[in-house]
Amino acid sequence: MADYQHILITVDFSSETDYVIDKALELATAQNAKTSFIHVVEYTGYLYPPDTPLPVDLDLEAQFVERARTNLVSVTESKGVPGAAQYVEVGSPALEIVRIAQQHAADLIVIGSHGRHGLQRILGSTASGVLHASSCDVLAVRVGACKT
Ligand code: AMP
Repeated sequence: MADYQHILITVDFSSETDYVIDKALELATAQNAKTSFIHVVEYTGYLYPPDTPLPVDLDLEAQFVERARTNLVSVTESKGVPGAAQYVEVGSPALEIVRIAQQHAADLIVIGSHGRHGLQRILGSTASGVLHASSCDVLAVRVGACKT
């Protein structure tokens, strides 16, 4: 296996988050790699075209971002890596994860995988989106019903 220098760990705060983080941290320790954490706030107002007469509640978005920041701090503290870089972005999870990985030169993205249907049945929607768009390696950690 390649020696990874910087592992970007994706966090969705679901019940599977713990498992994904533990796997990623195990690998980071074994490889002596730096770790960073990312959560993407999927605010739906953001998804509409700019000319749609939809009230985009920036205050609500700011609250989601603030809450995600607080939660990410708790997660990294509870996992014993409070000094790790933490990114909270707004938008499409797959696109933002790939963008931040590129911007910060991560060479491995760790993501949970619990597919539902089609290719997404194998990988999960975010995992398949990241895998298609990423130029670095992606480790899909099997979680949920498909885990053995
Ligand atoms: P899903 O697309 O719901 O199957 O999610 C699969 C995995 O993608 C999760 O276990 C996380 O690792 C990652 N993920 C999903 N949504 C987000 C998000 N909003 N921010 C960061 N990572 C996410």
